[in-house]
Amino acid sequence: MAQEFDAVIIGAGHNSLACAVHLATRGWSVGVFEQAAEPGGAVRTGEYTLPGFRHDWAAMNLSLFAGSGFSKNYGAALAAHGLEFVPVSKPFASAFPDGRWLGVSTDAAETVAGIAAYSPRDAETWQALAQAFPGEAEHLFALLAAPMKAHAISSFLWRLWRARKAGGALDMARFLAMSPRAWLEETFESPHLRATLGAWGMHLDFAPDIAGGALFPYLEAMAGQAFGMVLGKGGADAMIRAMVAELQARGGQVVCGARVARVLHAGGKASGIELADGSRVTARRAVIANVAPGALNGLTGGTGNAGFDGRMAAFRHAPGTMMLHLAMDGLPDWAAGEALKSFAYVHLAPSLDQMARTYAQAKAGLLPDEPVIVVGQPTVFDPSRAPDGKHVLWMQVRMVPGVILGDAAGQISATDWAQAAEPMADRALSILERYAPGARDRILGQRIVSPAALEADNPNLVGGDQVCGSHHLSQHFLFRPARGYSDGSTPIAGLYLTGAGVWPGGGTGAGPGFLLAQKLAGK
Ligand SMILES: Cc1cc2nc3c(=O)[nH]c(=O)nc-3n(C[C@H](O)[C@H](O)[C@H](O)COP(=O)(O)OP(=O)(O)OC[C@H]3O[C@@H](n4cnc5c(N)ncnc54)[C@H](O)[C@@H]3O)c2cc1C
Repeated sequence: MAQEFDAVIIGAGHNSLACAVHLATRGWSVGVFEQAAEPGGAVRTGEYTLPGFRHDWAAMNLSLFAGSGFSKNYGAALAAHGLEFVPVSKPFASAFPDGRWLGVSTDAAETVAGIAAYSPRDAETWQALAQAFPGEAEHLFALLAAPMKAHAISSFLWRLWRARKAGGALDMARFLAMSPRAWLEETFESPHLRATLGAWGMHLDFAPDIAGGALFPYLEAMAGQAFGMVLGKGGADAMIRAMVAELQARGGQVVCGARVARVLHAGGKASGIELADGSRVTARRAVIANVAPGALNGLTGGTGNAGFDGRMAAFRHAPGTMMLHLAMDGLPDWAAGEALKSFAYVHLAPSLDQMARTYAQAKAGLLPDEPVIVVGQPTVFDPSRAPDGKHVLWMQVRMVPGVILGDAAGQISATDWAQAAEPMADRALSILERYAPGARDRILGQRIVSPAALEADNPNLVGGDQVCGSHHLSQHFLFRPARGYSDGSTPIAGLYLTGAGVWPGGGTGAGPGFLLAQKLAGK
């Protein structure tokens, strides 16, 4: 193994791999060092319950990756290495306690009819929004893919102002500042539709009343309607295997089971890394750390810039996630209707008020009495993940505290995840059972992954925070991870931060890694 590379990358998450592939394409030699036994970080797939049942450990929905700038550049190469996407025509729905349901599919007439059953006025509004979406998307996607640098921001503002004039630009600014509840209540009258869309904010830490969160329910609603969802054929890890193969084909290396203990630097310049076993690797041009910002100080021992180090130490995390992987004899029999069996995600998130309460409880360190449940049904669209006629369920319990101080329901006394995981999983399964009687009897095998277990597997998921840091406005856009450093630079020359903790943030869109590689390679 060569112990000297142009770029040494810490961690083999998909952002690292996107960065590595682009740098290798530009002629850099790249070595990626990963503490886990396999690459992928939060994008992995395995038989976590029973043989033949393939579960996505964390990310399941690869729409962000499929639509990313990285995929546009490298999609053909990844396809040649076996990456296939499975299109999903029915991305998401919600089941409600009153026995009704509402879903969004790529069949616009079907979606509109579903909404009209709750509110004809909302159905009209939905159609108007869907019609306007391509024009809005042009600006919003440009913003979300732009480096947060003065020239990119001013060119975004200039294009927006030219297209919309001052009034239109200010309307967009107002929308970007809105909370999910403010936008949903202003736009729709049906509480069912508001809850169906508001659930998307809970995939990040945008509970209904958090400023800046309206964007996510809006984008998921409109993109779900326009494009559906995308899964990886055979599992989300298909994208990782293809990226690793592409990197290796270009001479890059991925070394697993190699925890990086230190970033080597002197005189304000990074020169390499030291692994936990004491061995050293030299970086001629860049050390790139895909770590949670809060972990950077531990690796550098301090950059010499107290302001920066303080911001890294103060980086805030969102509440955690608990995952339940279920091997199933059959899909849940949804009480609200058989039709729910045909959606990729079924949200059990009955109202904005309940979501707000769940978030407040999790933030206060309490196990929520009624967490939001995201029931992923990937085998509906990709039966290759389970034996014939069988299914896997990917259940997210949102949100739970990383550190437990108590139980909002007053039933679970354990404050240690090792003891609390089972009763909390039982609570989640009871909620599933309420919406789909008999679901429990169909479970053939299960794996509970607590927030603590998520973090033990991947230290970037601090407290089980699935997006490596809150995306609230004070820590997003040009403030992610800190003002002046949203391009991944640090006060140490040649040391860069990447990953979900850096703009444009969490998810499988590969933005932080690809933007950094473009910056380093001069595009
Ligand atoms: C449960 C869950 C569900 C999710 N669902 C979705 C979804 O459906 N769709 C979606 O778009 N996004 C989803 N996300 C978010 C998305 O998966 C992540 O934001 C994204 O994968 C992060 O990628 P990354 O490259 O930034 O880092 P990560 O994937 O977190 O990888 C970082 C890697 O660095 C390694 N590492 C850290 N420190 C060191 C060290 N010192 N030495 C060596 N290695 C180190 C870690 O082991 C890890 O492998 C989900 C996340 C989770 C946790």
